[in-house]
Amino acid sequence: MPRIPSPFRGRVREGVNRKREGVLIEPCHECGAEIRDPYKTCKEIFEAILVKDYSELGYAAVHQLVVDCYVLQHPVGHSPRSNAYHIMNLCGILEHGRNPGAGTNDGIKGTDQEAKYRAFPELEAPEDQGPVTVADVVGANDLEEHKTLMQKWAKSVWEAWAFHQDWARQAAREREGG
Ligand SMILES: [Zn+2]
Repeated sequence: MPRIPSPFRGRVREGVNRKREGVLIEPCHECGAEIRDPYKTCKEIFEAILVKDYSELGYAAVHQLVVDCYVLQHPVGHSPRSNAYHIMNLCGILEHGRNPGAGTNDGIKGTDQEAKYRAFPELEAPEDQGPVTVADVVGANDLEEHKTLMQKWAKSVWEAWAFHQDWARQAAREREGG
């Protein structure tokens, strides 16, 4: 499959290197998040949220959104085909009412799993990953705030990946059987 480029590639990120007095800020080179103590990387923040997903009542309800958003904003460590899979998931949740709860994602399982995965295009990530990051979500005070922040994060990522929305919509429609 052809690699689908992003028109945002090469655009210079602005405003992520600013320093605020008294606050340790370390911008992530992938998503642009301003990382503050006690975290050192977005991966540490992501893992802290995953712990909540599996240990605190109710957090598992939006687990898949956490995974899709995080993976899409950190595309360096995985195949560009995974971008296609996660943007298809995100579209299913946002536009088809697919359940974002832990354990509800049926993935691309089946006898032709390998073939399905290989058929995914390699979607290049946007340079600008949008204004909301994992660092904005981790500070939620309770479950309701967490869910609200997750919706904001999901919509922000979906907009940042606007160039690939047409592909995602078609893939999500086929997956949902219509
Ligand atoms: Zn990051």
